[in-house]
Amino acid sequence: MIVRELERVRELLHLTPEEEKAFKEVVPVYPFSSTLYYLKLAVGSSPVRKMLLPSLKEIDGEVQKGGLDDPLNEEGDKKTPFLTHRYPDRVLIVTTNYCPVLCRYCMRKRNWKKGTFVIPDEEIESALSYIRNNPRIRDVLISGGEPLFLPLEKLERLLTGLKRIETVEVVRIGTRLPVVEPQKVLRRELLEIIEKAEKVWINTHFNHPDEVTAEAREACLALLKAGAPVNNQTVLLKGVNDSVETLEELFRSLQKIKVRPYYLFHCDPVRGVMHFSTPITKGLEIVRELFRRISPLAIPYYAVDGPGGYGKVPMLPQRFKKEGEYYTFESYDGRTFTMADR
Ligand SMILES: *Cc1c(COP(=O)(O)O)cnc(C)c1O
Repeated sequence: MIVRELERVRELLHLTPEEEKAFKEVVPVYPFSSTLYYLKLAVGSSPVRKMLLPSLKEIDGEVQKGGLDDPLNEEGDKKTPFLTHRYPDRVLIVTTNYCPVLCRYCMRKRNWKKGTFVIPDEEIESALSYIRNNPRIRDVLISGGEPLFLPLEKLERLLTGLKRIETVEVVRIGTRLPVVEPQKVLRRELLEIIEKAEKVWINTHFNHPDEVTAEAREACLALLKAGAPVNNQTVLLKGVNDSVETLEELFRSLQKIKVRPYYLFHCDPVRGVMHFSTPITKGLEIVRELFRRISPLAIPYYAVDGPGGYGKVPMLPQRFKKEGEYYTFESYDGRTFTMADR
């Protein structure tokens, strides 16, 4: 069930006068939408609340200075109306702008202003034929909006088409459904489509340990059983998850449910999102400390996505340097050792 009206939100959440004001003033610019499940999660979690409820900062010109509608130039790198081709071997298909939960920090907030769009069948065909004609493309990202909310016959058409293209080795679906409405992941028809498509990997999107519920775990397990490895992309968000303790707990909780942390994204400079941005140095310090505490198997790549379309750059806190014929390294517990470069 989808909740969009202030009256319905009030039935579950006690809103402060400031939150009421924000809802009324911001929603005409940046709409509100939530599943009942995620709204209930916000009742007991202030970080979830921050990701879900409108804030006056979204429309504060001073706070949003420097923010752009499309900082990554996804529109400029489009090769067909729904397909962005930037890296030689990977393409991105934005299949819809429809999402059941509108995250306040959304990187595609520009698409909120468009009427709801869903990729038409003929544009699935044009994307498929572009991929067929470019055999270097081995990895296809299906994003949105929420691609697992596409009409299932459309999702199946796209996945079946990609299965038939031999040069495509990996199909990644970027979805937040396991986080915002895990019950919907458990639809048998959906899981069958994913299993039959064979090449599917799931990239999901947990940002806070409060989101890793028993229901979310069940959804991820079902995807794993359908043969899809599940990886996670987190966004580093000020006031939500920008601390060592929170991210350590998040990544451990994810590993526990067999979801591999893949990326920790530095917040993109998107108009309407700038108030979630942290310094890059802070992200690096958090990751440095994580390497002292937990296995790299539970640590994602911290990455920036270059404004203008330079693509993603993963960053590791530097723990070695070359000095003459020797490398000096820093151990997990802060000691140093050297090794000759031979
Ligand atoms: C993020 C992205 C990809 C995939 O990048 P990976 O680093 O392989 O996850 C591909 N194309 C575009 C346009 C992207 O933004």
